[in-house]
Amino acid sequence: MYEGPIQDLIDQLAKLPGLGPKGAQRIAFHLLAGENAEIDRLTAALGKVRDDVTFCAECGNIAADRLCRICADARRDATKICVVEEPKDIYAIERTREFDGRYHVLGGALDPLSGVGPDQLRIRELLKRLAEQSDGSVVSEIIVATDPNTEGEATATYLLRMLKDFPGLSVTRLASGLPMGGDLEFADELTLGRALSGRRVLV
Ligand SMILES: [Zn+2]
Repeated sequence: MYEGPIQDLIDQLAKLPGLGPKGAQRIAFHLLAGENAEIDRLTAALGKVRDDVTFCAECGNIAADRLCRICADARRDATKICVVEEPKDIYAIERTREFDGRYHVLGGALDPLSGVGPDQLRIRELLKRLAEQSDGSVVSEIIVATDPNTEGEATATYLLRMLKDFPGLSVTRLASGLPMGGDLEFADELTLGRALSGRRVLV
């Protein structure tokens, strides 16, 4: 245990995911030993995240404007929507370069034990996009790319039930081959790319 501000910093850092007390201590002492400018840059970046990051009005991705870079890009195929849990999953799929459509971020996965039901996810927004997208295009395929774990599978099953009666809509799911129990972002590009190109039709 250290005294004063340095211990406060360690305590705050240790609350961050993936760090733990040892990692927090290492970062705190690194900052203490470093230049003042480094702390200024970090403080400024944190403030910008708090004040300037917004979410895309269409898909829920992180955006610097009203629409994210992908929704604002007219070259992206608006008839295909890939449904993911978190914005970080978009970046995992983008790295594969296998997908030229748009995305929809749910904001998590169904997890009744933690109080996450359909109303806590952006499912209503997805249904609204199916009825009418802001650029007037009609969606013909929904690719369900939730994580290959229990919550992700439950979410996929729920979405399938909601979407199966939409006329002219095909619902697909990433092919198996992704490590079960995992998180999309941890799949390597090749495996994720294959899962995407080999996606199977559910309805
Ligand atoms: Zn967007």
